Amino acid sequence: MQLQQNIMKKAVLVSAGVLLLFVFLVWRVITIMRDNGEQYKKQVLSQQQYDSVIIPYQRGAILDRNGTMLAYSERVYNVILDCHVLTNDNSDGKSTEPTINAVAKCLGCNATDLRLYIQDNPEARYHILLKNVSYESMENFQNYVAEYNADIAEQNKTLEEKLPKINDKAIWFEDQFRRTYPGGTLACHMIGFTTKDGQGQYGLEEYYNDELSGRNGREYGYLTAENALERTVIPAENGHTLVTSIDSYIQRVCEEKIRNYNLEHAGEWRENEMGSDNTGVIVMDIHSGEILAMASYPYFDLNDPWDMSMYSEGEVARMIERADGDAEKASQGLWKNFCISESYEPGSVCKTFTVAMALDMGVIHDGDRFSCHGYLKFGEGEHTTTIRCHQRYGDGDIDVKTAVEKSCNVALMLIGQKVGKENFLKYQKNFNFGLRTNVDLAGEMRTASLVFNERTMGVTELMTSTFGQGFNVTMIQTIAAYSSLVNGGYYYQPHVVKQILDDNGAVVENIEPKMLRQVVSEHVSDLMIDYCIGVVDEGTGTRARPAGYRIGGKTGTAERSGQGKRDYTVSFMGFAPADDPQIAIYVVIDRPNVSSQEHGTRYACLLCRDILTEVLPYMHIFMTEPLSPAEEKELEERGQQSTLSENSASENSASENSASENSASENEAEEEIPVVEIQIDPSSGMALDPINHEPLDPETGVPLDEESSIFQDENGNAIDIPQAYDPGAETDDPRE
Ligand SMILES: [Zn+2]
Repeated sequence: MQLQQNIMKKAVLVSAGVLLLFVFLVWRVITIMRDNGEQYKKQVLSQQQYDSVIIPYQRGAILDRNGTMLAYSERVYNVILDCHVLTNDNSDGKSTEPTINAVAKCLGCNATDLRLYIQDNPEARYHILLKNVSYESMENFQNYVAEYNADIAEQNKTLEEKLPKINDKAIWFEDQFRRTYPGGTLACHMIGFTTKDGQGQYGLEEYYNDELSGRNGREYGYLTAENALERTVIPAENGHTLVTSIDSYIQRVCEEKIRNYNLEHAGEWRENEMGSDNTGVIVMDIHSGEILAMASYPYFDLNDPWDMSMYSEGEVARMIERADGDAEKASQGLWKNFCISESYEPGSVCKTFTVAMALDMGVIHDGDRFSCHGYLKFGEGEHTTTIRCHQRYGDGDIDVKTAVEKSCNVALMLIGQKVGKENFLKYQKNFNFGLRTNVDLAGEMRTASLVFNERTMGVTELMTSTFGQGFNVTMIQTIAAYSSLVNGGYYYQPHVVKQILDDNGAVVENIEPKMLRQVVSEHVSDLMIDYCIGVVDEGTGTRARPAGYRIGGKTGTAERSGQGKRDYTVSFMGFAPADDPQIAIYVVIDRPNVSSQEHGTRYACLLCRDILTEVLPYMHIFMTEPLSPAEEKELEERGQQSTLSENSASENSASENSASENSASENEAEEEIPVVEIQIDPSSGMALDPINHEPLDPETGVPLDEESSIFQDENGNAIDIPQAYDPGAETDDPRE
């Protein structure tokens, strides 16, 4: 019992002690609040205010090869009002009015609103009055305040009752950056843009996001025992600047010409559609892989990526319809870079690669001859496939160069047979088809499953591949590979950024051209240059030649598979100038909006011509070919001058003949007179196809029905082209 009582006593004592301590603490808190409340409040507020003020970093700029700004982060300011400082200064509130007036006068705020806000929130420390104010406006305000206060100080020297000054501590400016693209739509697909929180989206902005981003700084503030504000600043680290290989002038020319084509043909065949589903152009330096220009249509405004006002109402409606009724998705569709993010069947431009690999292997030689009767047959019985030349009566007995010039499918298939499946695939890989080029832009698509492999390539697949059908490529892959054909055989990795600078302009990194491998010998490269010049001099590409210049190239027409109706992708891929190739240019028009898409290569050629006519003089490449009167007139109308020197004109008397021949006959090879005797249907007067008797144009030997396919069964009925992927299987299409 005794023990129990002792324990009870101790418990009561401890409880009483705890209670006393608690009462004391409560009393202490109350006295602190009473005596020092104001100061504590101030510290709490100042911590909210100054404890974690972020100093934003400046994102690096993007420049073209000549230093022209393509993207930069403009310093702008938020205007902050600190009511507490204003209402607690030693002027008894008299400084409030002149301060309000200064803000209203210089920054355009409403004085009445300001007065009300200060009345209602006299202790507010952080109120954003304005956002995105320019440096000029801030400077203007600060100068005004300084002059005003100096003036008052002068007057106060003689006055008994002092006039109030503007409280310049109550208004301060918070740094912000706004991403700005001076070119607007210029090079939009290559540059990309940033999200509100500064993350790069698409193009260079996304690919180089880490380089362009910096690190935010911080400003720490605290009040000392004397109630003075102390600050510690950790400065921001700004992002790096990119110097690119883009030439703004060439880029601008490409965009303007692409736009002209698309506006000219908008709604021409398919109502409410643009001049094409896509049009893309790449201009590349063949000796370094540097991209000088990369442009596509449709395009968008980097300063306002959601804006679609540059398109007609009908076009916008059609775009939304194609995006399954989703307007947002339709807008986003414009941001995709056609030149690297979409694939298609390249068609006849690929004949250059087939011929080059055969020459490089030594299975054919310059001057070898091939016989074209208009078609080749494969397989037996039900599985017979007939692949035709565009010219249904055949191109006759032709050499390798003529096969390229006339774009003869039969000769190419015969060459492909000599190359064989294994070597074809090996070279295709060396040319980088099926692989990413690793160009330094975000969004390059994978094409590994869009080309044939050992397992999937049979005889027919090899045959169609020789002329660029059945497999898919991207534009960037194709022009990079083509550059190697005309530069001595050296494959360069395509790239856009040449140099990375820090924010003082010092070089952080130089990005040198990357030669990955030699794909064909220099001798083969020389032959390919010669063959491609032939294509423009007398073959399918005559329309691509700009006045006064000689260039080389290859046209392409590819049927787009799995679309029901036959649609086409038409293209021209070339180099200039002929005597000393420096640049490659690749023009692709995807589903041109014209009545006869199949003959749309002329539009690709004309677009190339239009671009080179302005780009070559700009690059100080002089004319070598005499100008016809029509060409002289054309240049005059364009406001351009001949850069033809007297010497080169007389030196080139040999090429004068071919030049005048060209202008006399603007024929494409597909339109040439056939070599085999034509059967004419006496009742209709039309020529007849020797296999399926469909009517042909008697002048050209080309079928009148534009849906007629070069892929046929044994009876001449159209069949599908075997594809490296299944275009019908939506989920398996890696192009999505
Ligand atoms: Zn042929």
